[in-house]
Amino acid sequence: MTERREELAANLADVEERIAAACAAAGRGREEVTLIVVTKTFPASDVRILSELGVRHVAENRDQDAAPKAAACADLPLEWHFVGQLQTNKVRSVAGYADVVQSVDRSRLVTALSKEAVRNGRELGCLVQVALDAGEGGRGERGGVAPDGVAELARLVDGAEGLRLDGLMTVAPLTGEYAGRQQAAFERLMDLSADLRAVHPAANMVSAGMSADLEQAVAAGATHVRVGSAVLGVRPGLG
Ligand SMILES: *Cc1c(COP(=O)(O)O)cnc(C)c1O
Repeated sequence: MTERREELAANLADVEERIAAACAAAGRGREEVTLIVVTKTFPASDVRILSELGVRHVAENRDQDAAPKAAACADLPLEWHFVGQLQTNKVRSVAGYADVVQSVDRSRLVTALSKEAVRNGRELGCLVQVALDAGEGGRGERGGVAPDGVAELARLVDGAEGLRLDGLMTVAPLTGEYAGRQQAAFERLMDLSADLRAVHPAANMVSAGMSADLEQAVAAGATHVRVGSAVLGVRPGLG
């Protein structure tokens, strides 16, 4: 084994142990939580190693970084999640490799994603990104729609050709009433998910929790955790 492979294998084992412990503590089955490894800023060679180590879901947040990486890894049995703020002029590229776009936060994006999904003849999974720190009718600084905008955006995704409404995503807010209260934030997301599922029963995916707060996300009921640095290490440069 190469040094990098050993490092990633050890980190992955640690994260796996944390997820398993969090599931046990919450009385949940381990299979209820899917690990998505956030590979942003790391090279395609790391993605390849992770795939060999059994990772099946990876996430990226910048198209410039993700597009060449996804192309270099096209032979691997991976699902690609896009988790970054998405400009409409990048939608054509992202729709070419992403299986799930977790950062759907405005109607223009729904229109653009639908058009490209249809053009590519692919179905694209979509999560509505919720900004728990955004005021009514607003959007979060790091993307996301305010809680009062979720239902309408979900309705648009559900009605859009080529798109599949999969559920909700959030990043725990650094400011506002949920600052430093990740578990409360994730519980609020779960309440919003329950409201969503009452109308769209299949939209049961809840993506929450990162390296620092995956335990709180699992405790609240998240179905997917997005873990970057705890698996790959400190990110080089932008991230
Ligand atoms: C980078 C990123 C993550 C992973 O963060 P870590 O703290 O490195 O685990 C998760 N979600 C989103 C949206 C990200 O941009």
